[in-house]
Amino acid sequence: DRIAARFPDRDALVVPHQGVRWTWRELRERVERLAAGLLCLGLQPGDRIGIWSQNRAEWVLTQFATAQAGLVMVNINPAYQRAELEYALAKVGCRALILAPGFKSSDYLGMLRDLAPELDAATAGDLHAARLPELRHVIRLGDETTPGMLNFDAVAQCAGPADVAHLHEVARTLQFDDPVNIQFTSGTTGAPKGATLTHHNILNNGFFIGEAMRLSEHDRLCIPVPLYHCFGMVLGNLACMTHGAAMVYPGEGFDAGAVLATVQAERCTALHGVPTMFIAMLDHPDFASFDLASLRTGIMAGSPCPTEVMQRVMRQMHMDEITIAYGMTETSPVSFQTSVDDPLACRVGTVGRIHPHLEVKIVDADGRIVPRGDTGELLTRGYSVMLGYWGDDARTREAIDDAGWMHTGDLATLDADGYCRIVGRAKDMVIRGGENIYPREIEEFLYRHPKVLDVQCVGVPDAKYGEELCACIVLRPGAQADADEIRAFCRGQIAHYKIPRYVRFVEGFPMTVTGKIQKFVLRDRMADELG
Ligand code: ATP
Ligand code: MG
Repeated sequence: DRIAARFPDRDALVVPHQGVRWTWRELRERVERLAAGLLCLGLQPGDRIGIWSQNRAEWVLTQFATAQAGLVMVNINPAYQRAELEYALAKVGCRALILAPGFKSSDYLGMLRDLAPELDAATAGDLHAARLPELRHVIRLGDETTPGMLNFDAVAQCAGPADVAHLHEVARTLQFDDPVNIQFTSGTTGAPKGATLTHHNILNNGFFIGEAMRLSEHDRLCIPVPLYHCFGMVLGNLACMTHGAAMVYPGEGFDAGAVLATVQAERCTALHGVPTMFIAMLDHPDFASFDLASLRTGIMAGSPCPTEVMQRVMRQMHMDEITIAYGMTETSPVSFQTSVDDPLACRVGTVGRIHPHLEVKIVDADGRIVPRGDTGELLTRGYSVMLGYWGDDARTREAIDDAGWMHTGDLATLDADGYCRIVGRAKDMVIRGGENIYPREIEEFLYRHPKVLDVQCVGVPDAKYGEELCACIVLRPGAQADADEIRAFCRGQIAHYKIPRYVRFVEGFPMTVTGKIQKFVLRDRMADELG
């Protein structure tokens, strides 16, 4: 409300592929209508409502409307298959589901019919009889009408003045510590987990992220990262909303050319991405023809941010003020972020210092704090830690200890000034003949090879050493190389035991839909191939 009152006529949301260009006043009005419409369906504060869609204008409407109406939005990844969808809808007990008009290659209607065979029947009420007893309403985006489903725009239009008054009453009763969102982790290390987050968690985090980027109402942030992940909805939408900056969605899924074209056309000042997205943009055949001079800042995060890539983004994309953030879904998500004021070496080589109002410690396997500079597991504590995994107390207790520390599962070091380096995931560490190898370190080194476009190192089982290191390399277009050449490049530069025993040339890596590389899949694949 405050932002809409301060900047009523400035752009709030621009979605070129939907022809959307709304000011903060218009966005606020639409949010309120939708919020009232959702309550008018009979939904009650605390009810879960799923959204199963790529990046679209309706996504942010739903995000803000559910928050205003006291509903708990459940982010559902469009790439989910049966098991994950059933988990999300059944275990989390969604009462309503918002459904995108169509996804590439995913037969979502078929899947839903499987789970709720009565969907073909004329009324949504029949869903009750199926395996999703709590699901009452399926709300379709787009113009199509489907029997048994409601239309999104119609829901927003059905609210009258009495419903709006009811909404305001409901909004007054909401508490900061009420859950507002269930977000699933990326599934980088296994099955995604549903983190339950409060208003207080994500709104504050979005604010501090925007502060670190120095966002203002003059900024226009291009958001190619998925909204169903915290990267899009918190580092994107909430960082903008708390600072009056415009949100620009360049497309439903990621397309490097479309992002570059949108930045140019919309004169974006900021751009977010996971490292693989920035690599794809820099590598785009027409990269040089785009005018990116409007860019100033943005965030690279989500997985290790190679120094080389950071330097290229700063130099070639004009993003002098780009920051690196580290976080996880369970902590709203960001806990570390670099700042423009940091020395350059820290801005490219570290994830920065701890965010305001959070605590950090790095501990050994026995839970003791390690000496500064030593590697251990990263623990964080503070306002940003989730309530827990929805309906999974056992896993919540594993993740958050009695003193409130979130165990990240990431290995890290802190230097004397508090700058944090993420060494890798505990699960990815390779132990070869008793020596710890952090794949990240070897990847960073191999990125310097002129023929290497992208590289991932994993451990494969070995009878003699327990594990051996395998480097999987994507070569630059047209480049040729062999394993010996890569190993020769390492010799004399890194310790002999860290030189990959195996080098494999690949076309690409198995990825989560959030654009992260699934090392556990790659590891299994290499173990099969080499074992
Ligand atoms: P899952 O928990 O389901 O296996 P995930 O951990 O990838 O998936 P997210 O919550 O999306 O799910 O990602 C958080 C993780 O991403 C962190 O624990 C960390 O390993 C990694 N990460 C995030 N930012 C960075 C960064 N800047 N540098 C290195 N790693 C990062
Ligand atoms: Mg995780």
